Amino acid sequence: MTETTKIYQNIIGNLEASSSSLESNTQLFEKYNPANKNELLGKFPQSTQEDLEKAVLVAKKAFESWRFTPAPQRAEILYKAAQITIQQKQILAETLTKETGKPIVEALGEIQEVIDTYLFFAGEGRRLYGMTGQSELPNKSIITIRQPIGICGLISAWNFPAAVPSWKVAPALISGNVVILKPSREAPISGYLLIENLIKAGLPEGCANLLFGDGALGQAISEHPEIKVISITGSVEVGKKVYETCGKMLKKCALELGGKNAITALKDANQELLLEGVLWGAFGTAGQRCTSTSRLIIQKSDWSNSFIAKLAESAKKLKVGNGLNKGIQVGPLISESHRKSVHRFVERALAEGGELICGGNILKGENHDQGFFYQPTIIKVKANSELSTQEVFGPVLAVIEVEDFEEAIKVANNTEFGLSLSIYTNDVNRAMQASNQLESGIVYINAPTIGAECGGAAAFGGWKNTGNGTREGGILALDTYTQYKTIYIDYSQKLQRAQID
Ligand code: NAD
Repeated sequence: MTETTKIYQNIIGNLEASSSSLESNTQLFEKYNPANKNELLGKFPQSTQEDLEKAVLVAKKAFESWRFTPAPQRAEILYKAAQITIQQKQILAETLTKETGKPIVEALGEIQEVIDTYLFFAGEGRRLYGMTGQSELPNKSIITIRQPIGICGLISAWNFPAAVPSWKVAPALISGNVVILKPSREAPISGYLLIENLIKAGLPEGCANLLFGDGALGQAISEHPEIKVISITGSVEVGKKVYETCGKMLKKCALELGGKNAITALKDANQELLLEGVLWGAFGTAGQRCTSTSRLIIQKSDWSNSFIAKLAESAKKLKVGNGLNKGIQVGPLISESHRKSVHRFVERALAEGGELICGGNILKGENHDQGFFYQPTIIKVKANSELSTQEVFGPVLAVIEVEDFEEAIKVANNTEFGLSLSIYTNDVNRAMQASNQLESGIVYINAPTIGAECGGAAAFGGWKNTGNGTREGGILALDTYTQYKTIYIDYSQKLQRAQID
């Protein structure tokens, strides 16, 4: 450890809180830069049940006043946090690049997403719409309002360590809840900075707390009876465990899980647009987005073979390296173990009879030995193979050839996941038929599977094993963090009996 390596502390009640694990000398965990495995970014406590109890106590107290703070006042804090984030955009993005490896231009985009999310949900502070309805009786009104639920346990994945926490924290807070955030051990710093900035923006004591730790802490958060809402972004395996716990406790639970996203290319597609879209969708963020394009389902045509060859040429030219360096397009994988897992997928695909089009290996050499870099890889496979159905979470594109539109849709839907599917075509009828038939929460037409926005109509989430029907990133996120209350107001000054009088 260098002298300047920071030991991060939990945040409880707006203060740095030393973890009880440190008293018992439990080891701190370390976070290194995946582009430079010698660069230690920080050390973090493995929080204990005792730390969790402290955070819950403080959050519970904070909820009593925050829940009744007028929502427009709550919004002022999100506006302020957006301003602080704008001022710090560059430094936050650089931290994010060091933490995840994603190229700086993508990290800047992620911080912009945090800003957009704060501004959008701050706007909700003056809406948070409920409903009004007509009573069957005279001089009587019915209104349904949204109310906060309590302490929300927010558990995030490492691949969007700033944007994903903001998708959870902002709607939770604007609705009047208080939160305990547990960032991933693989990327703990951006979440910490996010909470720090909310506090700087004036968030009252205890409304947003942060505990560092691993899956055991996530499990303890899910099981805690005082934590009334769980929102988790992660793998299907973990999501199922959390859902089971929440189910037993009848706890509200939002799951944002994996994907096996595909671009479907019909023979009338605009080839140049398609080329750019596939490269960005498959190899942006080194394929480590839940929405990454990990399949290209291409209709056989007189240009499909030459297109695949051109795609391979372009993939080989992508600049892979440290995301802080100028011109880098593809960063490293998050860890050595993850790189091994990606490589094993490739080996199995080739053993199963897949045809290697390009890549397929760990990147070596002066510019790559320090990090967990992997070659952008394209493999032609059969529709039912592992590579065409399972999430890899790396820069590996499975290409599947199909005869016609009907087969393309069938193959696109042939996975347990249902997050993001796309179709490239110039035929408006085919485009609309596809958007009707594709089984996913998000469909793109003539755009790759990545690029979700934050906004009123922009709902983010998936079908099938990608989740349990909840949404983030837009107005529907409020459904996770609010409960409805229906109020009947009788101003007739007499007893009126519904269904009887
Ligand atoms: P992961 O499932 O390993 O971990 C996610 C989080 O859950 C981490 O904070 C982890 O500590 C915690 N956790 C682990 N075990 C737990 C348990 N038993 N109880 C509670 N919490 C537990 O996932 P990851 O490797 O961090 O992220 C990659 C996965 O996330 C991919 O599958 C990706 O598709 C998915 N993802 C989904 C979305 C989405 O919005 N759908 C967005 C980003 C990433």
